[in-house]
Amino acid sequence: MYVDSENPILKLTETETNGAASQTVDPSFLSVQSQTLKAAGETDEQDLPDAAENDKFDSSSDSSALSVRSEDAFPEAFPTYRTKAFVVINRAPPPKSKALPYSSSRTGLVYDVRMRFHTEPLDAMLSEDDIHPEDPRRILEIYDQLGEAGLVDTSKHHVPNPDFALWRIDARKATKEEICLVHTPEHYEWVASLKNESQEDLNVMAARLDSIYLHPTTFSCASLSAGGAIEACRAVVAEHVKNAVAVIRPPGHHAEHDHPGGFCFFNNVSIAARVCQADFGTTCRKILILDWDVHHGNGVQRAFYDDPNVLYISIHVHMNGTFYPNNSYGDHTHCGEGKGEGLNVNIPWSSQGMGDGDYLYAFQQIVMPIAQEFNPDLVIVAAGFDAAKGDRLGMCEVTPACYAHMTHMLKSLAKGKIVVCLEGGYNLQSIAKSTVAVTRTLMGEPPERIDEDIEPKPLGQSTVELVKRWQSKYWKCMRSRQNENQMVNSLHARRVHDIVRQADSAEFWESFRMTELFILRDRISKSFEKQVLATHNFAEARPLLIIFHEPPETTALTDPQSAKLSLHNIFVTDVTKTYIAWAVKNGFGVIDVNIPEHVTDPDMPPEFVEGASTDERAALTRELATYLWDNYISLGDSTHKFFLGVGAPYSGILDLLGEKDDCAEETDYVFAFVGDQPLAGIKKLTDDYIPAWYQAHSSVFVKDGHHAFDPSRTRKLRKRFGNVIHSPHATIPNMLEAHKNEVLLKMRELTEDWREEQEAHRAKKLKSESLSEANVHKATAGSGHHRNNSSYSSNGGSLQIDPSAGRERDAGSKTPRSTPAALRSPHRPPPLGTFTITPNRRAASAGLGGNGAASGSASPAKRMRGNE
Ligand SMILES: [Zn+2]
Repeated sequence: MYVDSENPILKLTETETNGAASQTVDPSFLSVQSQTLKAAGETDEQDLPDAAENDKFDSSSDSSALSVRSEDAFPEAFPTYRTKAFVVINRAPPPKSKALPYSSSRTGLVYDVRMRFHTEPLDAMLSEDDIHPEDPRRILEIYDQLGEAGLVDTSKHHVPNPDFALWRIDARKATKEEICLVHTPEHYEWVASLKNESQEDLNVMAARLDSIYLHPTTFSCASLSAGGAIEACRAVVAEHVKNAVAVIRPPGHHAEHDHPGGFCFFNNVSIAARVCQADFGTTCRKILILDWDVHHGNGVQRAFYDDPNVLYISIHVHMNGTFYPNNSYGDHTHCGEGKGEGLNVNIPWSSQGMGDGDYLYAFQQIVMPIAQEFNPDLVIVAAGFDAAKGDRLGMCEVTPACYAHMTHMLKSLAKGKIVVCLEGGYNLQSIAKSTVAVTRTLMGEPPERIDEDIEPKPLGQSTVELVKRWQSKYWKCMRSRQNENQMVNSLHARRVHDIVRQADSAEFWESFRMTELFILRDRISKSFEKQVLATHNFAEARPLLIIFHEPPETTALTDPQSAKLSLHNIFVTDVTKTYIAWAVKNGFGVIDVNIPEHVTDPDMPPEFVEGASTDERAALTRELATYLWDNYISLGDSTHKFFLGVGAPYSGILDLLGEKDDCAEETDYVFAFVGDQPLAGIKKLTDDYIPAWYQAHSSVFVKDGHHAFDPSRTRKLRKRFGNVIHSPHATIPNMLEAHKNEVLLKMRELTEDWREEQEAHRAKKLKSESLSEANVHKATAGSGHHRNNSSYSSNGGSLQIDPSAGRERDAGSKTPRSTPAALRSPHRPPPLGTFTITPNRRAASAGLGGNGAASGSASPAKRMRGNE
């Protein structure tokens, strides 16, 4: 039996239980409390504080206890359905000053010893020293230190001045109706049934659950914990106290509607929020739940994910879903859905070790601006103190002073109506000191000064910036004011991405003699000009490299003082150019396709536009790739075909390969570089040949940290995703640079046969030509014209220019093919009017102008549609 007179868990004292020595006490109330207490002291924990026990009091003990009902205290605010309620606020708080109704009100405290009975049984512990972190002493330590700080009367400490003490709010058990505002009746019944199980059976059950231990008193402690949160919130909304702190356990924020988890059974703060909305109507319509527990409150997020009136903001360690609760729900992309879209804000730290600077920065940059814009009627803090310095589960560095500052900021909301409810936190000293600091702030003391360095860490800054960008879709305060002011200067504006592509095309002409391929489409746009560039020899019998990429990456450094962006501080990096340089040097034909993130519409004002989504860009790629395939590539004589897909466009290439049987047959190899977009697969599910072919003929470099490598991911990468290679690099430019040799060597290796035949052919030709020296001379001189004068360096000695490349070009289609493309792709006549390299791009575009003018606001994909 787990009853030990020395065990702090069961050491009860009278003053601690009623905690009302200095307050006016209704004698009948005291008698109930002492009866309760007696029972607590005399019996073991198994049969103490459940609902049946309360009923026993009702029938067998002093009947005057029944007269202490909440209806007496707050008849206006207590609905009659809550008949099982134990005792609500039993005393009217002292009168407030009319001049300062808020400041002269008291801060409420919920604490009830009976919440300490839920404890991990000895036989479930690995050893006696291995005490479960969710230890009943957590709330006792907090209570003791609140007493020590002179804020509440306890058995050990007396309040020096009763006028400046916490006002006790009694906990009661939440009713089934209240709990089922958040949880399913099945879940409620399951928790309720635990009291009838043997400890042995409970241990077996608990082993199958996620981070849970069970005890016969679990139900009554969890009900008290939820009821404590409810009563704290009700007292604040009804303005009986100015604000409140609820020192309750077991915690609640991991409990979902139908299952427990992470030491939690009933979702205390969510239940309290729902009860307040139901009881107070418009007085308490909009509620902010701010969760600073180091873990993501998956249960709270789920409870209000589509709710338009509850804003949930959580700051937690996420570590890409590898930190408890180990899933992606807590990432920055989960912003709510339906009517609740935009009302879920996750601030997911990418590592442990975050400190005051990071939390204050997140508060100043995200929490407070969004909370002010939301303008809640009540703030409930899901206050886990496991991000506190000294907590071995959280391993973060938040100090008590920082918790006090965060509380102080939150007090400015909702006319000061804030309730702090304990969640996690497992270092007894850290949680007690933090709670005391928060409570003092609630009572009116200014927060202590922060001694720590409050500069946020780079990791903290980048998380905050990421969340701000993500939330700017939903909150005005998250958008940059500067953007709006700068629009004044936007007369005759051009988008830089158009200028960059024009510059690229000029450079490609200079370096590689690449010109624009004519693409028939129904609308002219600046963005579309020069998106498809090709070497003049792309249709010849030589290897062909087809690149689909996103616009080059830009880095912009703003002036730190004026935040002004100058052209000389904007950098453009484009590693794919070095691939083109190599291919041209090695005699390949090249088609380079830039898939713009936005297609400029000349009629649109020069304002901020979002880039097309990954799906839209993939669709555009698919359309362009199909068009190019049908009208150019499949009709040419290329001996080898290589696709290189960079970023979002790569999935469009896969669509082409899946859709066109001849495409996969004729393609030699596919290279892909995958950054933030999801892995794409070949969609041809009815045919196993194509996925198998793709896996054998591809190198898919995927960035480090991509969720495909998530350790919690259980499904294996299927072959339709190709030959996936985990890159050690995290950005596409770095990956392109680092894996360049692998890609180029592979192309070199696969085109070896072609080079050998070229060599043989050249030898044969030389032999025949030796009869005429003049011919030889002509051939050599001719190559000079097409010889590129690239300024790019190719990679490594083995990848230097092939000496025969220049000559091959002149030899042209007369050269025998190593792999006879014509056999694989029967030559078809070109579609009328399209198989043309159009040097005069303007003329081509102008000719199409009339066609597109009427198409209005077609999607980017439609604007680029071909003629088919
Ligand atoms: Zn926690």
